[in-house]
Amino acid sequence: MSPGPQSGGQERGSMERKMVELEDTGLTFATEVDLERLQALAAEWLQVIGEDPGREGLLKTPERVAKAWAFLTRGYRQRLEEVVGGAVFPAEGSEMVVVKGVEFYSMCEHHLLPFFGKVHIGYIPDGKILGLSKFARIVDMFARRLQVQERLAVQIAEAIQEVLEPQGVGVVVEGVHLCMMMRGVEKQHSRTVTSAMLGVFRENQKTREEFLSHLRDGTA
Ligand SMILES: [Zn+2]
Repeated sequence: MSPGPQSGGQERGSMERKMVELEDTGLTFATEVDLERLQALAAEWLQVIGEDPGREGLLKTPERVAKAWAFLTRGYRQRLEEVVGGAVFPAEGSEMVVVKGVEFYSMCEHHLLPFFGKVHIGYIPDGKILGLSKFARIVDMFARRLQVQERLAVQIAEAIQEVLEPQGVGVVVEGVHLCMMMRGVEKQHSRTVTSAMLGVFRENQKTREEFLSHLRDGTA
């Protein structure tokens, strides 16, 4: 029953789907998460840390926590085909496409605390390109799970590889980790850069250099 990052979205069709509205955001989404159970756990969590779930300020907190966590982990219940939709288009040419500064918000799997930042993506097409807005959707699908930053980069790169079968893909993730900053460790390394390179981005140093130089010039 532990939904590992690799098992996301596959065998969940049989579970009940509910529409949830996120307070203050105007955002509505469908979820199969057992919200009542999560709510009960959140109330217990409050007790364990020494709080009183019955005090006024916390009365609605377990419900909010349950909804927020359903949202923050909704990537487990998304599928790549659905996320990409019909946005793969035929294209000629093999110029590098670079998409810079895609925002992400994720939760570290070691402490359940946020890490967030930007993803930069480059690929060299081999007959297929993807609508620009879909890169943000792919990033979001993998960020809205428990993650480590290294795996986030790899999963995004592999997803683009799967969808576009390009000559190569490069993904660079820059993240700030609250689990490090708030616990007072490694403050000097709180901003972390990880990358994943596939195909010509891995094999050809010139291609990799070209991608990284795109990331250096201008603001992301
Ligand atoms: Zn952590």
